[in-house]
Amino acid sequence: MKPAPFAYLRPATLEEALAALAGQQGAKVLAGGQSLVPLLSMRLAAPSTLVDINALPDLSHVAVSDDGVRIGALARHAEVLASREAAERQPLLAMALSHVAHATIRNRGTTVGSLVHADAAAEMPMVLRLLEGSVDVASVRGRRTIPAAELFAGPLESTLAQDEIAVEACFPALAPGAGVAFQEIARRHGDYALVGVAAHVETDGGEVTRARVGFVSVSDVPVVVDVTDSLDDPASAALAELEPADDIHATAAYRAHLVKVLTPRVLADAVHHARDRKK
Ligand code: FAD
Repeated sequence: MKPAPFAYLRPATLEEALAALAGQQGAKVLAGGQSLVPLLSMRLAAPSTLVDINALPDLSHVAVSDDGVRIGALARHAEVLASREAAERQPLLAMALSHVAHATIRNRGTTVGSLVHADAAAEMPMVLRLLEGSVDVASVRGRRTIPAAELFAGPLESTLAQDEIAVEACFPALAPGAGVAFQEIARRHGDYALVGVAAHVETDGGEVTRARVGFVSVSDVPVVVDVTDSLDDPASAALAELEPADDIHATAAYRAHLVKVLTPRVLADAVHHARDRKK
């Protein structure tokens, strides 16, 4: 199918882009186009205007500091994945990004776009949620920071207003004594996960003091479960808060089975990761 007709704007400054979004009802941001263009072609989205942000300056950074990794709206998944400094400061970024789609899609798709797209089957929304990161957004009304816990409103729905542009995402650094791990099961590497699981643990003197697990493809929104008090059976604690569903790719029962198998495995990997970092 072909998209419904739309106007196309390619502003050269953020101010122009924000004014265009504010001035056109039904206008939408176009970043890497890896999710939006298929939706247009299938006529599942029909914006009046596309505001292409690819010509905006100063949004392509992957900036690493003691606090963590700040990713600009035009940084492609591949650029984030290629940053050794980013992987050192927050190893879960590279662990998860290597499972995001295929190389050609990672070359064009943006990490920030994936967060705004808010697909519960995508890896990076869950990673942002697990790491308790945030997204900075701008509009003609000013700027605000949205914590990850408030970013995901529903299936494919973020809490950005129609006239807001996400300019940067912040993934906090991995603290001393903490460890992370990620595993997913997909039909083929690069396909969306049937189930993906990430773990973040904090340790003190070898003891786990906090353990949280994030899940991909088992709910309508990215879900993180605190399993600090359920380390003897973390999968059951997690399943109590998840809503695995049937679809054409897997049954709900199979997804629940994957949660049971992967959750303890990934938690153990994260504890090993925390111990290995101390050596
Ligand atoms: P776009 O497609 O340009 O936009 C997506 C949505 O976000 C639109 O609504 C747009 O308006 C909005 N948006 C984008 N950027 C901004 C911004 N800065 N501010 C405000 N709104 C914004 N993803 C995965 O996570 N895992 C996978 O396994 C995976 N597999 C894929 C397989 C295929 C075949 C394809 C085509 C895509 C796959 N993707 C996967 C999606 C891919 O990661 C996209 O890059 C990502 O979902 C969206 O990023 P984008 O830059 O392409 O956004």
